[in-house]
Amino acid sequence: MAEEQIRLLKAHIPPFGVYGAPRMNTALKRRYNHTGIDIYGPIGTPIIAAEKGRIFTTYKEIDSPRAGNTIELLGEKCMTRYLHLETIKVDKGANVEAGETIGTLGITGNAKYARLWIIRCEDQAQGRSHIHFEARERENVNNALDPLILIEENKIAIPVDVFFF
Ligand SMILES: [Zn+2]
Repeated sequence: MAEEQIRLLKAHIPPFGVYGAPRMNTALKRRYNHTGIDIYGPIGTPIIAAEKGRIFTTYKEIDSPRAGNTIELLGEKCMTRYLHLETIKVDKGANVEAGETIGTLGITGNAKYARLWIIRCEDQAQGRSHIHFEARERENVNNALDPLILIEENKIAIPVDVFFF
């Protein structure tokens, strides 16, 4: 992956949005570690498939109040998950190429309660809009890995069009 794209990507992940950041589930009063990366950006930023594969499932915010509009993509190497989307542009079962637009960045699910992080956003609501992105290896889908490492190792692509920011 090009260094400049990774630099741009990292500029949109706040310290509390990195993989492994300590979190608190206030409903269950339980501590946990963040299982993905939160990439902040304007609503409508194109979300792209991080790998060639098949859309494993999609679900709507109404069925998934915490994750919001979500896509799960089963790729050749990894299972990737895209949360808090504004729109979903693919159907379950569809085959997609790496880099294909599959949805748009949004503020659905518990993204609405995310801490404020404003990046070149006039609108404060957009300060909360982000994608929560997760990646797991196919052989071990229960173990969420650090997506940034998989991106740096060129196993998966960056899931947003960083030049849209
Ligand atoms: Zn997150």
